[in-house]
Amino acid sequence: MPNADFQLIVIGAGPGGYVAAIRAAQLGFKVACVDKLPTLGGTCLNVGCIPSKALLQSSDSYERTSHSLKEQGVIAQHVTFDFPAIMQRKDGIVRTLVDGIASHFKRHSITRLEGSASFVNPQEIEVNGKRYTAEQFIIATGSEPIPLPFLPFDEKQILSSTGALSLPAVPKTMTVIGAGSIGVELASVYRRLGTAVTVIEMLDTITPGMDAALSKQLQQSLKKQGIEFFLGATVTEGKILKNGVSLAINHARQSRVDAEVVLVAIGRKPYTTGLNLKAANVNTTQKGLIPVDGNFRTSQPHIYAIGDVIDGPMLAHKASHEGIAAVELLAGLSPTVNYMSIPNVVYTDPEVASVGMTEAEATASGRKILTGTSHFRGNARARCSGDLTGLVKVVGDEATGRLLGMHLIGAHASEMISEGVIALDKKATLSDLAHACHPHPTLSEAIMEACQQALGFAIHG
Ligand SMILES: Cc1cc2nc3c(=O)[nH]c(=O)nc-3n(C[C@H](O)[C@H](O)[C@H](O)COP(=O)(O)OP(=O)(O)OC[C@H]3O[C@@H](n4cnc5c(N)ncnc54)[C@H](O)[C@@H]3O)c2cc1C
Repeated sequence: MPNADFQLIVIGAGPGGYVAAIRAAQLGFKVACVDKLPTLGGTCLNVGCIPSKALLQSSDSYERTSHSLKEQGVIAQHVTFDFPAIMQRKDGIVRTLVDGIASHFKRHSITRLEGSASFVNPQEIEVNGKRYTAEQFIIATGSEPIPLPFLPFDEKQILSSTGALSLPAVPKTMTVIGAGSIGVELASVYRRLGTAVTVIEMLDTITPGMDAALSKQLQQSLKKQGIEFFLGATVTEGKILKNGVSLAINHARQSRVDAEVVLVAIGRKPYTTGLNLKAANVNTTQKGLIPVDGNFRTSQPHIYAIGDVIDGPMLAHKASHEGIAAVELLAGLSPTVNYMSIPNVVYTDPEVASVGMTEAEATASGRKILTGTSHFRGNARARCSGDLTGLVKVVGDEATGRLLGMHLIGAHASEMISEGVIALDKKATLSDLAHACHPHPTLSEAIMEACQQALGFAIHG
């Protein structure tokens, strides 16, 4: 479109949109980024990844100082916590990071538009009554929590993850509906701070999609920490009482679960409310997703979509990678997003991290596979740190020797998984990892050892 206000307008400033806007500016585009929130960073920075990890850190520090140090010969007495200070720290971390993005926008001369964007026609949006045209658009409007029809969020007694990240006080009891990563992470935060937490999950396992062995081990660990689970259970009814919420559930052991607050963490759905996609002739699926081709193009070739609003895992790093790839495509470069090497992490204690195929997926693909496992209890560094609950499992292709998947449970799994990401991305073999010299003593040696075990020569196996 000649004489457009901008070459590119990015709608949404989450990890998909803000990263796309910065990359576009780096590549010389005249770019604007619009968000309806007063702060940049989207779900991830404001009400997702970052505040949840800040609360996980504070609650973990309290838990470890209270219970785990004695075994290392350290006596900590009268350990307590200051909940308002924990919340203030979380808010401060969020503020620093969102302000950081605002500085990056300034440095890159990105025009920031504050308000809700709505398409007027395929080439024009309206924000706060003002119209802006662009040659190309990227929609990165993310997702929102799914409510239960009979338990709408009030963020006081019926919480979404957003409400659970900003409670005014630690509740005595909490029911979490949904044992996905958001559910078990927030269950962990409040359990560590003294809440009696019950998790209700429709499926027979927690954290769906995770390698079965690791999911089982995670559940056992969380149960040992005091979280009660009802698996294979459906919530059929919810009654709001004066001091809490009473849920009717379908479960052999129990028919009712009462708690002061209920966190509904049953998933998230794509968010396009108010965008007026019809005016732009952009299609959506029945589930509300924006379908895109292999180059992130929607049904309108000059309008792209990335992140939670399109198909695929709802993860911040996936959104960012798509943002970079979409913009580089616009600039005529040839980027790729390798969906096989997008890692997934659950920040519980123990942490769980995985990338690539699970054993079940690799077997179902018809390949002959090799698997190898190395337990942290045989790892020298884990002995020193006391992080003995954990293992590394690798899945490889017997015919080519290539790594197909890596699955970690245990301390620092979130950091160690990057070795698997690079290995998968670069098509490394189990032998490459088994023969790469890993520093000693480190937990990462367990990755090397698991690969050695898969190939039949584990030194400590
Ligand atoms: C509690 C919680 C914990 C999480 N933890 C992790 C984690 O540890 N790791 C991880 O990878 N992922 C995590 N996620 C998921 C992650 O936050 C999302 O996958 C990620 O934010 C998606 O990025 P996005 O850019 O697609 O969308 P979003 O981050 O949702 O950003 C979309 C933005 O678009 C704006 N917007 C929407 N409509 C309009 C409009 N019409 N006009 C203007 N602006 C609009 C919104 O205000 C929002 O700022 C977590 C999510 C939650 C809720």
